[in-house]
Amino acid sequence: MAERPFWQVKSLAEMSAEEWESLCDGCGRCCLVKLEDEDTERVVYTDLACHMFDEGTCRCRAYEERLREVPDCVQLTPETVQKIDWLPPSCAYRRLAEGRDLPDWHPLITGDPESVHRAGASVRDRVEALEGGFSLVLMAENDMDGLMARIAEWPEEDVPDQGSRPGEARDD
Ligand code: SF4
Ligand code: SF4
Repeated sequence: MAERPFWQVKSLAEMSAEEWESLCDGCGRCCLVKLEDEDTERVVYTDLACHMFDEGTCRCRAYEERLREVPDCVQLTPETVQKIDWLPPSCAYRRLAEGRDLPDWHPLITGDPESVHRAGASVRDRVEALEGGFSLVLMAENDMDGLMARIAEWPEEDVPDQGSRPGEARDD
């Protein structure tokens, strides 16, 4: 019988650092500027990303130094994942924390880092990174209307399975 993958047999807290990192599908949604409605506490995403975000690769340009470079970058841990309420429903950490499995388009299943983009789960080439040194706080103070105009529609529901099997690359 085939051995079950680590994310099905280990809790988030039991995973090695390497396993933990491999869970990130590279969707980039946690790097978007978010706005929270003070009354409803509803969080909406914009189409603006952190200034360290590379829109083309959909990855952080300084991942190892990110917490020093961007003080409000949030480090995901088994504990913080339980508390953060703005992770997208497709996020692997959120899915596993909620007792769900990974979607069939997840790179750990397809073996292809591009599969997250084909599934439409990522923000690649659909966002603009804040210019270096341009603080979100300053932007919010000076141009809240401009910031509101950047609110974008991203999937609120989970991104469905794509019907591919493990190791099977799709052509579309
Ligand atoms: S939302 Fe989750 S899966 Fe997507 S980039 Fe952030 S941590 Fe990775
Ligand atoms: S520092 Fe990197 S990981 Fe953190 S929000 Fe910015 S782009 Fe994303």
